[in-house]
Amino acid sequence: MSAKGDMFYAWTTDAGIKGECGGAVTAILKNLLASGTVDMVLTVKKGVDVYDPVPAFITDPAELDKCAGSLHCGTLLLPKLIKKYLGGAKDIKVAVTCKGCDAKAMYELAKRNQINMDNVVMIGLNCGGSIPPMQARRMIKEKYGVNPDSVFKEEIDKGQFIIEYTDENGAHQTKGIKIDELEEEGLGRRKNCQRCETKIPRQCDLACGNWGVFGEKAGKATFVEVCSEKGAAVFDAAVNAGVIQTAAPEAKGLEIRAKIEKTMVNMGKKGQEKQFAELGEGQERLEKIMRATSKCIKCYSCIEACPICYCVECSTKKPHLVRPGIVPPDFMFQMIRFAHIADSCVNCGQCTELCPMDIPNSLFMHAQQVELEKMFGHKPGYDMELPVLAFAEEADERARLNATGSDMIYENVFGQEE
Ligand code: FAD
Ligand code: SF4
Ligand code: SF4
Ligand code: SF4
Ligand code: SF4
Repeated sequence: MSAKGDMFYAWTTDAGIKGECGGAVTAILKNLLASGTVDMVLTVKKGVDVYDPVPAFITDPAELDKCAGSLHCGTLLLPKLIKKYLGGAKDIKVAVTCKGCDAKAMYELAKRNQINMDNVVMIGLNCGGSIPPMQARRMIKEKYGVNPDSVFKEEIDKGQFIIEYTDENGAHQTKGIKIDELEEEGLGRRKNCQRCETKIPRQCDLACGNWGVFGEKAGKATFVEVCSEKGAAVFDAAVNAGVIQTAAPEAKGLEIRAKIEKTMVNMGKKGQEKQFAELGEGQERLEKIMRATSKCIKCYSCIEACPICYCVECSTKKPHLVRPGIVPPDFMFQMIRFAHIADSCVNCGQCTELCPMDIPNSLFMHAQQVELEKMFGHKPGYDMELPVLAFAEEADERARLNATGSDMIYENVFGQEE
């Protein structure tokens, strides 16, 4: 029997699973479906090539074999799909693979009653970062000197982005370049990944990865950390069904994993310092944001993709706030987004990734989120606490405003005298 906090090396007993490490994640997902514990698995599968991860809604356990492996050249975020296409898991039980940003987005949706966590099993994947598909192709062509279409596998290992490809003579080749070197040249991981501090997603029921698999199991087992009682039950069920085997992790492996996590978190903090410093402060920051967002074509992609945005009637579409038919939209468009979601931004990068005008929206939002966290202490995506503003009901707030004339809602929230 396992319990929250336990850690294991685990590997599949199913020869049909060609997993990224030990294939334990695929084996656990298959067992969840086959046993009827969940009705569906939401994960990711390869589309036309390695630069094309596509979401996969799966009900047949055998289909999961085709999804095994990790895709790093893609920027999907899965939780909003549960809200959009599975009714927030109100009436369906679903297991989903979650990187750190997925896990945080899930929590922010769940705390707003948009996803029913009782019906969700979160299988966490440790995450060093991901690369936008077009950037990956350009980087492979220009920096690696390799035809991007010849790449059949990519991985991030020991600080390198490594590709496996077929050369012009049909021979199998491997080439890796240090991520630090790539990022110094403006290549490599997404900018939000360079700012990310969520490396082992312990918000999930299980957190799985390759860090810490040491000794004879290196490369052949998945490192699994049990993060909840639900996770313990899911893991034990897979062991009891004989679909995974386990071993205790090597002491050296535990030490290495803790060290890598610490280093990666510090890298994320440094990434924030660097990128936020470039953005400047106060008036300078505001002017930079206004200049950059003056390219906006009001396509609403950022809102559509953001896990914190789900309102049926979006304020940015109200003519008295943002004048219709004008592009670029009034700056009020951006101000509404900042006011409504900056306190809860989980730095998932979707609003940058999907912006057709290449506006670094997530940098702007993340920079504000960090400031708001300093002021109000709310760290989005780590627990089920709501941010301060979410306590204010709009109708009550309007009534209070009419009665008092004061716009100071915070004193009330903190229980002080007005
Ligand atoms: P498998 O049995 O191969 O199953 C993997 C599952 O993950 C499959 O269901 C697949 O569909 C799903 N999946 C693949 N790509 C994605 C994606 N982009 N988003 C959501 N689900 C996906 N581990 C570390 O220890 N350190 C790291 O730095 C690290 N970085 C990673 C970065 C990314 C972008 C991803 C996707 C994973 C990363 N991992 C990292 C996790 C690691 O690569 C393996 O996924 C994990 O060890 C499980 O191995 P497995 O053999 O049990 O998984
Ligand atoms: Fe991974 Fe963090 Fe980037 Fe998400 S934001 S892909 S968790 S590094
Ligand atoms: Fe993600 Fe952007 Fe929304 Fe932040 S504002 S949660 S980065 S989509
Ligand atoms: Fe809701 Fe504001 Fe997002 Fe519009 S911008 S969907 S009103 S949170
Ligand atoms: Fe404007 Fe970009 Fe958002 Fe589209 S995605 S509305 S262009 S900021």
